[in-house]
Amino acid sequence: MEIVNRIQRMKEVIKDIKKDNKTIGFVPTMGCLHQGHLSLVREARRMSDYVIVSIFVNPKQFGPNEDYEKYPRNITKDAEILSQENVDYVFYPAVEEMYPENYRTYVIVEDLSDKLCGKSRPGHFKGVATIVIKLLNIIQPNFAFFGQKDAQQSIIIKRMIRDLNLDTEIIILPIVREPDGLAMSSRNLYLNPEERKAATVLFKSLQAAKELIKDGEKKASKIIERIKKIIADEPLAKIDYIEVVDLDNLNPMKSLDKTALIAIGVYIGETRLIDNIIVREEK
Ligand code: AMP
Repeated sequence: MEIVNRIQRMKEVIKDIKKDNKTIGFVPTMGCLHQGHLSLVREARRMSDYVIVSIFVNPKQFGPNEDYEKYPRNITKDAEILSQENVDYVFYPAVEEMYPENYRTYVIVEDLSDKLCGKSRPGHFKGVATIVIKLLNIIQPNFAFFGQKDAQQSIIIKRMIRDLNLDTEIIILPIVREPDGLAMSSRNLYLNPEERKAATVLFKSLQAAKELIKDGEKKASKIIERIKKIIADEPLAKIDYIEVVDLDNLNPMKSLDKTALIAIGVYIGETRLIDNIIVREEK
């Protein structure tokens, strides 16, 4: 496995792979890898001749009061893990390599970026879309793998790919969870033991919503109410948003008569966590 720091070197590697008509599977990450990331890496390994994983904590997707500085980083351990997964290349550029002085160009996926997480994280998805398009342009993968954990991100990237006519196929994989249901996330490391316990409220509230829907409830307001009540009962939790939205355009739905995304953002102490479920349309 080679760790590549330079865009120029990465492009040379890609050129050689393409010359041989081999396929590339690409997994973009911010590192501090966990089983959620590895589920993407393993699927990439299964589907493609070459697997490339990027590790880049992208400053442009963090707001001024967010956790860019303290975001967990552990390249030595990550490299060890990825080498065991038979990854071929790790693209690990410095910030100045990706955003040299006088960097001026951004991609904005309109409308979708302002909803859900976008409301409390203005500019976040502009940063995400920009780094993803840059990485896709450098690596030109046949497949790129993303997690359902970041549902809105996946939808925005799919739209960007379509709108900008890229050839990469986007593959979205299910949320990997801890045994108690908490969605795996690098940010779970911020939680103290008490908060860690409290954080299961996200999964629990979504499970309760699922039960309610199974019992026939179709009204979004009722589903939101149920989730809200469960989260409100957890003293360490503070709701950012609870929404039932259309999977295509992220617009709020009144009633569950087509496939819906139930997405929540919740602060546990100072740490903001997200989770979601998709409720499929019954045919
Ligand atoms: P991150 O390093 O947090 O930017 O995540 C990199 C990729 O891993 C994104 O596509 C995430 O959606 C995905 N991912 C993160 N956590 C999970 C998880 N628990 N299950 C599945 N995919 C995940």
